Amino acid sequence: MLKWLSSLARGKPGKQGAAKKQSGGAPRRQKKSTGKKRASANADRQLDAVRIPRAEHGISRKDIDEHALKVLYRLRKAGYHACLVGGAVRDLALGMKPKDFDVATDATPEEVNRLFRNCRLIGRRFRLAHIHFGRQIIEVATFRADHDGGDSDGRLDESGRILRDNVYGDIAQDVWRRDFTANALYYDIEDFSVIDFVDGWRDIHERKLRVIGDTETRFREDPVRMIRAIRFAAKLQFTIDDEITRAIHQLGGLLQDIPPARLYEETLKLFHSGHAVESFQQLHEYRLLQYLFPQTATMIEQDESVVKFIELALQSTDKRIQAGLPVTPAFLFAAMLWAPLQKQAEQGVAEGMPYAMAMQQAIAEVVGQQVRTLSIPRRFTTVMRDIWSMQSRFRYRKGRRAHSLLNHPKFRAAYDFICLRGEAGEDVSEDVQFWTEKQKRTPPPQQQHEDEAGHKRSGSRRRRRPRRRKPQ
Ligand code: ATP
Ligand code: MG
Repeated sequence: MLKWLSSLARGKPGKQGAAKKQSGGAPRRQKKSTGKKRASANADRQLDAVRIPRAEHGISRKDIDEHALKVLYRLRKAGYHACLVGGAVRDLALGMKPKDFDVATDATPEEVNRLFRNCRLIGRRFRLAHIHFGRQIIEVATFRADHDGGDSDGRLDESGRILRDNVYGDIAQDVWRRDFTANALYYDIEDFSVIDFVDGWRDIHERKLRVIGDTETRFREDPVRMIRAIRFAAKLQFTIDDEITRAIHQLGGLLQDIPPARLYEETLKLFHSGHAVESFQQLHEYRLLQYLFPQTATMIEQDESVVKFIELALQSTDKRIQAGLPVTPAFLFAAMLWAPLQKQAEQGVAEGMPYAMAMQQAIAEVVGQQVRTLSIPRRFTTVMRDIWSMQSRFRYRKGRRAHSLLNHPKFRAAYDFICLRGEAGEDVSEDVQFWTEKQKRTPPPQQQHEDEAGHKRSGSRRRRRPRRRKPQ
């Protein structure tokens, strides 16, 4: 998805250079390069394309989503150049199932809108077309032009960060909007070839993550690319080259200036990709954890054993995702912040506060600090609070208190949490044993889960009654 651009596109609206429609529908023929030219630095912005013909790659239309194909075909039929781009081409090249299918075209968003009845234009400054097929969305972005590298129009801030990015261009310019070579392949619906400007095909097959252009410049333009590097390395098992490593060590601090809402979104992508353990380990190794979870990073510095509990929690998240079960960000954040929370509560007790009060104060303090970095929505911080508060209530094993605990809507999440604490070596085995037995005797009512979007789901979802047609 190109949402990152819309979130970058703040400041004044820039010139909206309209993309020119290709006459006759034929895609621009790319100059075939004799020797492949490498994107060594942003200064060298003229890249030659290499076309990998259908016979030489294994990307088959039967693996491409039918709705994405529909969009591509209709754009082509209307005379536009249309390509599948980004993660979908990369994943198909790797023989993986893509998460979503993004399309890039030389049609402007308004032109796309005219072609599809099920189209919605989103973003004010960075316009994108969303084509809706039931719950599925195919995102169509118009090729964007790169900036000239200078800052004559105030497009970059003083640290080199992109502030606006909304000029249409052609495919050869669009390639510069992409972050890594593996993400910059275009599957052309015209002849089913793959267009490669940056040796992305080779890097994918060598499983190497390489930044397009000068690594430092590109990370300065958008520091979130450093987190994306960790995400792709973890998800795809790609190696991160030395330049990326050096640049991350040098520029990690720029993440402090990224709005907490964007960092929250990126953190979710990182930890809800099915590769959370690996992502966490890499964040830790590349010293980026401190920019997402500063309190947790400080705790780990003082006590390495904190890592064990977090990894166990992340393992369980990964397993749930791989099994297709819903996951809630609340559980993830509750686990990430458990150690700092305990430390804070212990301090309160040491100062003479009763435990329950110390805990409530610690929750307010720890959550308050965390949301300055990642803006976790309130509906999730409320659940985190429930999971944490219930941990000490598991000691009540009799009477109404125990009964009400079992009926608590977040009982299941809190119980899973205490089990993980036990596995990580905390002294809670008696509580775990009691509540495990208790559930066998009196199963708790069906619990509700909330998925990432905050939609409530329960095992017994009420079916919507089909709408009756009015008699004619
Ligand atoms: P995933 O499979 O996890 O969705 P993806 O590569 O498709 O991975 P998206 O975040 O969906 O990642 O972005 C789609 C494409 O948009 C990327 O492949 C990349 O080409 C481009 N892109 C997204 N975010 C950025 C960014 N911050 N900087 C540069 N290019 C980006
Ligand atoms: Mg994607």
